[in-house]
Amino acid sequence: MAHIPQLLSRGLSCSFEFGPPRDEKGEATLARTIEELRKRDPTYVSVTYGAGGSTRDRTHDLVVEINNEMGLTAMAHLTCAAHTQADLEALIVRYRNAGIENILALGGDAPVGYDGPAGELQYSSELVALIRGLGDFSVGVAAHPEPHPRSISLAADRDHTAEKLASADFAITQFFFEARHYFDLVDALAQRGVTKPVIAGIMPATSIAAIARMAQLQGSEFPEWLAAKLYAAEDQGPAAVRAVGVEEATKLCEELRAESVPGFQFFTLNLATATREICDNLGI
Ligand code: FAD
Repeated sequence: MAHIPQLLSRGLSCSFEFGPPRDEKGEATLARTIEELRKRDPTYVSVTYGAGGSTRDRTHDLVVEINNEMGLTAMAHLTCAAHTQADLEALIVRYRNAGIENILALGGDAPVGYDGPAGELQYSSELVALIRGLGDFSVGVAAHPEPHPRSISLAADRDHTAEKLASADFAITQFFFEARHYFDLVDALAQRGVTKPVIAGIMPATSIAAIARMAQLQGSEFPEWLAAKLYAAEDQGPAAVRAVGVEEATKLCEELRAESVPGFQFFTLNLATATREICDNLGI
């Protein structure tokens, strides 16, 4: 296994994000998806962490299984919200002892309906420092092209992203549908003296309702032109909608690749088809 920055130095990276399944049916779906997508020889795979630690053990076990038993480099997501520092230290040490070398340090959000303490670490930059102090990890952070919904302004979010990326190794973006958002982010970071790799997070718009909901939650624009194309395909059924989503995600990736993006992270939602089709279109 390896540190992700070493893998990124080899050229355009292609990675897949998975979430720990909730039940046996989900486990079977994810097993099929991993089996299918591992044929693409991903640079690494990334495993999400449920809000407030709701998937604490499941995320750990999936990361360790993928990394240590499937021969793929796996990165664990970890969030500050609703955790004590001792909780986070224990999780990081557990990963270190299991041989995991890559962690995505996130601020996170409290779970819906949660009314406990907010968490001892307020921002992801504090988690980056904590991880650095506990082992020889490569550390990634999130970046928000549009920007993050809790930000007081675009400039403030760019400042905070530059600060945290300066102390981390690489960033992965929230999803976006127009390349200009990514280029604006990367330019703003460069203006602040930060040129570390920023991997583009890619979410194919394969379901109108799901994308509209996620875009609103994450602060990503769901552009009218894209909504119009997806609604126009709706009468022909879900496969036609998915085809539009795949086509537009392919165009977005091509535009980013033409400007030397270091890599793509596909948010698979544990399903292989759309990601496989985009990879086919891109020749990855
Ligand atoms: P932070 O970096 O802490 O930033 C949060 C807000 O605080 C921003 O508005 C920022 O501008 C501001 N800020 C940062 N530092 C400071 C400072 N010093 N002073 C004042 N303001 C500051 N969530 C999950 O729960 N589980 C996951 O597995 C997960 N995976 C993700 C993967 C990717 C690639 C991305 C992009 C997001 C992911 N998220 C995940 C969502 C993420 O946790 C949320 O977007 C969260 O609300 C913010 O996380 P962050 O790491 O950007 O937070």
